Amino acid sequence: PSLTPTLLYLNNVTVSFDGFRALNALSLAIDQAEMRAIIGPNGAGKTTMMDVITGKTRPTDGEALFEGHHDLTRLDEASIATLGIGRKFQTPTVFEMHTVEDNILLALKADRRPFRALFSRRTAQEKERMDALLERIRLKDHRRRKASELSHGQKQWLEIGMLLAQEPKLLLVDEPAAGMTDQETADTADLLREIAQTRSVVVVEHDMVFVRDLDVKVTCLHEGSVLAEGTLDQVSSDERVIEVYLGR
Ligand code: ADP
Repeated sequence: PSLTPTLLYLNNVTVSFDGFRALNALSLAIDQAEMRAIIGPNGAGKTTMMDVITGKTRPTDGEALFEGHHDLTRLDEASIATLGIGRKFQTPTVFEMHTVEDNILLALKADRRPFRALFSRRTAQEKERMDALLERIRLKDHRRRKASELSHGQKQWLEIGMLLAQEPKLLLVDEPAAGMTDQETADTADLLREIAQTRSVVVVEHDMVFVRDLDVKVTCLHEGSVLAEGTLDQVSSDERVIEVYLGR
Protein backbone atom coordinates (compact mmCIF):
# COMPACT_ATOMS: atom_id res chain seq x y z
CA PRO A 1 0.00 0.00 0.00
CA SER A 2 1.15 3.46 -0.90
CA LEU A 3 1.77 6.06 1.80
CA THR A 4 -0.35 8.64 0.05
CA PRO A 5 -4.13 8.35 -0.11
CA THR A 6 -3.91 9.64 -3.69
CA LEU A 7 -3.84 6.81 -6.23
CA LEU A 8 -3.94 8.88 -9.41
CA TYR A 9 -2.91 12.46 -9.84
CA LEU A 10 -3.34 14.20 -13.16
CA ASN A 11 -1.20 17.31 -13.00
CA ASN A 12 -1.80 20.00 -15.62
CA VAL A 13 -2.42 17.55 -18.44
CA THR A 14 -2.80 19.10 -21.87
CA VAL A 15 -3.62 17.19 -25.04
CA SER A 16 -3.49 19.15 -28.27
CA PHE A 17 -4.74 17.91 -31.62
CA ASP A 18 -3.45 20.30 -34.28
CA GLY A 19 -3.58 23.16 -31.82
CA PHE A 20 -7.02 22.27 -30.47
CA ARG A 21 -6.87 21.46 -26.77
CA ALA A 22 -8.97 18.39 -25.99
CA LEU A 23 -7.51 18.62 -22.47
CA ASN A 24 -6.39 21.99 -21.21
CA ALA A 25 -4.17 21.88 -18.11
CA LEU A 26 -6.47 19.31 -16.50
CA SER A 27 -5.68 18.56 -12.85
CA LEU A 28 -7.53 15.88 -10.94
CA ALA A 29 -6.79 13.55 -8.01
CA ILE A 30 -8.42 10.20 -7.32
CA ASP A 31 -7.91 8.62 -3.90
CA GLN A 32 -7.37 4.96 -3.06
CA ALA A 33 -10.71 3.15 -2.89
CA GLU A 34 -12.58 6.16 -4.17
CA MET A 35 -15.25 6.06 -6.85
CA ARG A 36 -15.51 9.24 -8.90
CA ALA A 37 -18.09 10.11 -11.52
CA ILE A 38 -16.90 12.21 -14.45
CA ILE A 39 -19.58 14.17 -16.25
CA GLY A 40 -19.57 16.96 -18.80
CA PRO A 41 -21.16 17.82 -22.13
CA ASN A 42 -20.06 16.18 -25.40
CA GLY A 43 -16.54 17.17 -26.32
CA ALA A 44 -15.61 18.08 -22.73
CA GLY A 45 -12.58 15.77 -22.84
CA LYS A 46 -13.83 12.77 -20.84
CA THR A 47 -12.72 10.16 -23.37
CA THR A 48 -9.39 11.89 -23.93
CA MET A 49 -8.80 11.85 -20.16
CA MET A 50 -9.38 8.08 -20.05
CA ASP A 51 -7.11 7.68 -23.10
CA VAL A 52 -4.32 9.53 -21.29
CA ILE A 53 -4.68 7.39 -18.15
CA THR A 54 -4.49 4.17 -20.18
CA GLY A 55 -1.62 5.35 -22.37
CA LYS A 56 -3.64 5.39 -25.57
CA THR A 57 -3.05 9.11 -25.98
CA ARG A 58 0.15 10.86 -25.03
CA PRO A 59 -0.30 14.36 -23.61
CA THR A 60 1.53 17.35 -25.01
CA ASP A 61 2.18 18.55 -21.50
CA GLY A 62 1.69 17.55 -17.85
CA GLU A 63 2.03 14.33 -15.92
CA ALA A 64 -0.24 11.53 -14.72
CA LEU A 65 1.18 10.08 -11.53
CA PHE A 66 -0.03 6.63 -10.43
CA GLU A 67 0.80 5.60 -6.85
CA GLY A 68 2.87 8.74 -6.52
CA HIS A 69 5.74 7.74 -8.75
CA HIS A 70 4.74 6.03 -12.00
CA ASP A 71 4.25 8.71 -14.65
CA LEU A 72 1.67 7.12 -16.97
CA THR A 73 2.45 9.66 -19.69
CA ARG A 74 5.80 7.90 -20.17
CA LEU A 75 4.48 4.34 -20.29
CA ASP A 76 2.88 2.27 -23.03
CA GLU A 77 -0.59 0.72 -22.76
CA ALA A 78 0.64 -2.75 -21.82
CA SER A 79 2.85 -1.48 -18.97
CA ILE A 80 -0.01 0.63 -17.66
CA ALA A 81 -2.33 -2.38 -17.63
CA THR A 82 0.33 -4.32 -15.73
CA LEU A 83 0.49 -1.57 -13.10
CA GLY A 84 -3.15 -2.34 -12.33
CA ILE A 85 -5.32 -0.10 -14.46
CA GLY A 86 -8.27 -1.74 -16.22
CA ARG A 87 -10.65 -0.10 -18.65
CA LYS A 88 -14.16 -1.12 -19.52
CA PHE A 89 -15.48 0.30 -22.76
CA GLN A 90 -19.17 0.82 -23.45
CA THR A 91 -19.56 -2.24 -25.67
CA PRO A 92 -18.89 -5.48 -23.83
CA THR A 93 -16.16 -7.62 -25.35
CA VAL A 94 -16.68 -11.11 -24.03
CA PHE A 95 -16.02 -14.47 -25.69
CA GLU A 96 -19.59 -15.04 -26.94
CA MET A 97 -19.23 -18.74 -27.74
CA HIS A 98 -17.80 -19.62 -24.35
CA THR A 99 -19.58 -20.10 -21.05
CA VAL A 100 -19.66 -17.46 -18.36
CA GLU A 101 -17.27 -19.64 -16.33
CA ASP A 102 -14.81 -20.03 -19.15
CA ASN A 103 -14.79 -16.29 -19.78
CA ILE A 104 -13.83 -15.70 -16.16
CA LEU A 105 -11.32 -18.52 -16.25
CA LEU A 106 -9.68 -17.07 -19.35
CA ALA A 107 -9.35 -13.75 -17.56
CA LEU A 108 -7.90 -15.44 -14.47
CA LYS A 109 -5.35 -17.17 -16.68
CA ALA A 110 -4.67 -14.06 -18.73
CA ASP A 111 -1.00 -14.26 -17.91
CA ARG A 112 -1.01 -17.26 -20.25
CA ARG A 113 -2.06 -17.27 -23.86
CA PRO A 114 -5.89 -17.35 -23.91
CA PHE A 115 -6.22 -20.27 -26.30
CA ARG A 116 -3.91 -22.51 -24.29
CA ALA A 117 -5.67 -21.50 -21.09
CA LEU A 118 -8.80 -23.29 -22.31
CA PHE A 119 -6.92 -26.57 -22.36
CA SER A 120 -5.28 -26.31 -18.99
CA ARG A 121 -6.81 -27.66 -15.82
CA ARG A 122 -8.29 -25.12 -13.44
CA THR A 123 -6.56 -25.05 -10.10
CA ALA A 124 -8.40 -25.10 -6.78
CA GLN A 125 -7.35 -21.53 -6.22
CA GLU A 126 -8.73 -20.46 -9.60
CA LYS A 127 -11.99 -22.23 -8.83
CA GLU A 128 -12.27 -20.36 -5.55
CA ARG A 129 -11.54 -16.99 -7.15
CA MET A 130 -13.97 -17.75 -9.96
CA ASP A 131 -16.77 -18.59 -7.51
CA ALA A 132 -16.18 -15.34 -5.62
CA LEU A 133 -16.17 -13.33 -8.84
CA LEU A 134 -19.33 -15.00 -10.19
CA GLU A 135 -21.08 -14.24 -6.93
CA ARG A 136 -19.92 -10.64 -7.02
CA ILE A 137 -21.03 -10.01 -10.62
CA ARG A 138 -24.38 -11.67 -9.97
CA LEU A 139 -23.89 -14.46 -12.53
CA LYS A 140 -23.50 -17.49 -10.27
CA ASP A 141 -26.72 -19.03 -11.53
CA HIS A 142 -25.70 -18.46 -15.14
CA ARG A 143 -22.20 -19.88 -14.95
CA ARG A 144 -22.75 -22.64 -17.51
CA ARG A 145 -24.58 -20.51 -20.05
CA LYS A 146 -22.88 -19.22 -23.14
CA ALA A 147 -22.02 -15.53 -22.95
CA SER A 148 -24.04 -15.04 -26.15
CA GLU A 149 -27.19 -16.01 -24.23
CA LEU A 150 -26.78 -13.32 -21.57
CA SER A 151 -28.71 -10.08 -21.51
CA HIS A 152 -26.87 -6.89 -22.41
CA GLY A 153 -26.59 -5.98 -18.74
CA GLN A 154 -25.27 -9.41 -17.76
CA LYS A 155 -22.61 -9.20 -20.48
CA GLN A 156 -21.48 -5.87 -19.02
CA TRP A 157 -21.16 -7.52 -15.60
CA LEU A 158 -19.28 -10.44 -17.11
CA GLU A 159 -16.78 -8.06 -18.63
CA ILE A 160 -16.43 -6.25 -15.31
CA GLY A 161 -15.77 -9.66 -13.73
CA MET A 162 -13.09 -10.37 -16.32
CA LEU A 163 -11.44 -7.06 -15.52
CA LEU A 164 -11.66 -7.75 -11.77
CA ALA A 165 -9.90 -11.08 -12.36
CA GLN A 166 -6.80 -8.99 -13.14
CA GLU A 167 -7.08 -7.36 -9.69
CA PRO A 168 -6.85 -3.78 -10.93
CA LYS A 169 -6.14 -0.99 -8.47
CA LEU A 170 -8.00 1.41 -10.70
CA LEU A 171 -10.98 0.51 -12.85
CA LEU A 172 -12.12 2.93 -15.55
CA VAL A 173 -15.66 2.46 -16.81
CA ASP A 174 -17.40 4.19 -19.65
CA GLU A 175 -21.18 4.55 -19.28
CA PRO A 176 -21.64 1.16 -17.61
CA ALA A 177 -25.42 1.43 -17.40
CA ALA A 178 -26.10 2.43 -21.01
CA GLY A 179 -28.83 0.24 -22.48
CA MET A 180 -29.63 -1.48 -19.20
CA THR A 181 -33.04 -2.04 -17.65
CA ASP A 182 -33.87 -0.06 -14.50
CA GLN A 183 -33.20 -3.08 -12.31
CA GLU A 184 -29.87 -3.80 -14.01
CA THR A 185 -28.93 -0.13 -13.65
CA ALA A 186 -29.60 -0.21 -9.91
CA ASP A 187 -27.67 -3.49 -9.58
CA THR A 188 -24.76 -1.98 -11.51
CA ALA A 189 -24.60 0.95 -9.10
CA ASP A 190 -24.49 -1.53 -6.20
CA LEU A 191 -21.82 -3.61 -7.95
CA LEU A 192 -19.60 -0.59 -8.57
CA ARG A 193 -20.01 0.55 -4.97
CA GLU A 194 -18.92 -2.90 -3.77
CA ILE A 195 -15.88 -2.81 -6.06
CA ALA A 196 -14.96 0.67 -4.80
CA GLN A 197 -14.68 -0.62 -1.25
CA THR A 198 -11.27 -2.00 -2.14
CA ARG A 199 -10.32 -0.37 -5.45
CA SER A 200 -10.61 3.00 -7.10
CA VAL A 201 -13.21 3.40 -9.83
CA VAL A 202 -13.62 6.22 -12.34
CA VAL A 203 -16.99 6.25 -14.11
CA VAL A 204 -17.68 8.41 -17.14
CA GLU A 205 -21.43 8.85 -17.24
CA HIS A 206 -24.13 10.83 -19.04
CA ASP A 207 -27.09 9.42 -17.14
CA MET A 208 -27.56 11.72 -14.14
CA VAL A 209 -30.10 9.38 -12.55
CA PHE A 210 -27.40 6.71 -12.47
CA VAL A 211 -24.85 9.21 -11.11
CA ARG A 212 -27.30 9.96 -8.31
CA ASP A 213 -27.55 6.20 -7.59
CA LEU A 214 -23.76 6.00 -7.35
CA ASP A 215 -23.78 8.70 -4.68
CA VAL A 216 -20.12 9.70 -5.12
CA LYS A 217 -18.07 12.83 -5.69
CA VAL A 218 -18.64 14.25 -9.15
CA THR A 219 -16.22 16.09 -11.43
CA CYS A 220 -17.68 18.06 -14.31
CA LEU A 221 -15.31 18.65 -17.23
CA HIS A 222 -15.72 21.39 -19.78
CA GLU A 223 -13.35 22.37 -22.59
CA GLY A 224 -10.70 20.04 -21.24
CA SER A 225 -10.52 21.23 -17.65
CA VAL A 226 -12.44 20.85 -14.40
CA LEU A 227 -15.43 23.15 -14.32
CA ALA A 228 -16.89 22.02 -11.00
CA GLU A 229 -16.35 19.32 -8.40
CA GLY A 230 -18.43 18.16 -5.43
CA THR A 231 -21.59 16.25 -4.68
CA LEU A 232 -24.04 15.85 -7.56
CA ASP A 233 -26.31 18.41 -5.87
CA GLN A 234 -23.49 20.92 -5.58
CA VAL A 235 -22.31 20.40 -9.14
CA SER A 236 -25.75 20.38 -10.71
CA SER A 237 -26.73 23.63 -8.99
CA ASP A 238 -23.51 25.38 -10.09
CA GLU A 239 -24.42 28.23 -12.46
CA ARG A 240 -21.49 27.51 -14.78
CA VAL A 241 -22.49 23.85 -15.07
CA ILE A 242 -26.09 24.77 -15.83
CA GLU A 243 -24.84 27.17 -18.49
CA VAL A 244 -22.67 24.63 -20.33
CA TYR A 245 -25.35 21.94 -20.18
CA LEU A 246 -28.01 24.25 -21.51
CA GLY A 247 -25.56 25.62 -24.08
CA ARG A 248 -26.27 29.28 -23.45
P1 ADP B 1 -16.02 13.64 -24.50
O1 ADP B 1 -15.61 12.23 -24.28
O2 ADP B 1 -16.17 14.43 -23.24
O3 ADP B 1 -17.24 13.77 -25.36
P2 ADP B 1 -13.59 13.77 -26.08
O4 ADP B 1 -12.49 13.54 -25.13
O5 ADP B 1 -14.03 12.65 -26.93
O6 ADP B 1 -14.84 14.40 -25.29
O7 ADP B 1 -13.20 14.97 -27.05
C1 ADP B 1 -12.75 16.23 -26.61
C2 ADP B 1 -12.49 17.09 -27.82
O8 ADP B 1 -11.31 16.65 -28.49
C3 ADP B 1 -13.61 17.03 -28.85
O9 ADP B 1 -13.81 18.33 -29.37
C4 ADP B 1 -13.07 16.10 -29.91
O10 ADP B 1 -13.58 16.43 -31.18
C5 ADP B 1 -11.57 16.35 -29.83
N1 ADP B 1 -10.79 15.16 -30.20
C6 ADP B 1 -10.78 13.99 -29.53
N2 ADP B 1 -9.93 13.12 -30.11
C7 ADP B 1 -9.39 13.76 -31.17
C8 ADP B 1 -8.44 13.39 -32.20
N3 ADP B 1 -7.88 12.17 -32.22
N4 ADP B 1 -8.14 14.32 -33.14
C9 ADP B 1 -8.71 15.54 -33.10
N5 ADP B 1 -9.59 15.94 -32.18
C10 ADP B 1 -9.95 15.07 -31.23
